[in-house]
Amino acid sequence: MVVEDEPDILEILRFNLEREGYAVESFTRGDDALDAVRGDPPDLLLLDLMLPGVDGLEITRILKREPETARMPLIMLTARNEEIDRIVGLELGADDYLAKPFSPREVVLRVKAVLRRGEGTAETASVVRVGELKLDRPAHRLFVGGEEVTVTATEFRLMTVLMERAGRVQTREQLLSDVWKYAENVDSRTVDTHVRRLRKKLGREASRIETVIGLGYRLKA
Ligand code: CA
Repeated sequence: MVVEDEPDILEILRFNLEREGYAVESFTRGDDALDAVRGDPPDLLLLDLMLPGVDGLEITRILKREPETARMPLIMLTARNEEIDRIVGLELGADDYLAKPFSPREVVLRVKAVLRRGEGTAETASVVRVGELKLDRPAHRLFVGGEEVTVTATEFRLMTVLMERAGRVQTREQLLSDVWKYAENVDSRTVDTHVRRLRKKLGREASRIETVIGLGYRLKA
């Protein structure tokens, strides 16, 4: 489902998603979209933030609170000047965002990445693979192209979170919560330091951990 009040953008999204074989339902008003989602939740929601009726952040807040829709994949469509809203949206539980103007190719890649993640295979698998990276959770071992990389317990937890959520932005705040459990004496610089060390250890796969300026990090899917 695509919710976007700018007709041109809506058409571009519809055209490119349908060409990939997705069935697209679209709405231009937030309140109409909210009713439709509650009636029959789509596999994925592409949601603009500034909308007539109910705005995108409010829709996100409502849907993430309701059990039937809390796990529904959601990608925000944001304008360049909506960085704060973007952060709020990710904290509310949106899976990713696309900043306008975006390329149709990028939209399709993100949709695929988020849907793949939604299948839950990576989440429950004991071995997670992304590119040349392989994470063996029960054995607590990390490999790059078959060669083991020695990592600390914290680095391993960080890598697990990034790999399980490959393709999705993780804010520093989320990482602090999920990796460090808000331990004392830990702030967002700690996240940056650990990512830097981890990149060094990953060698040719180092660039797979992407910095998302002003937000956090994303492991390239
Ligand atoms: Ca709008």
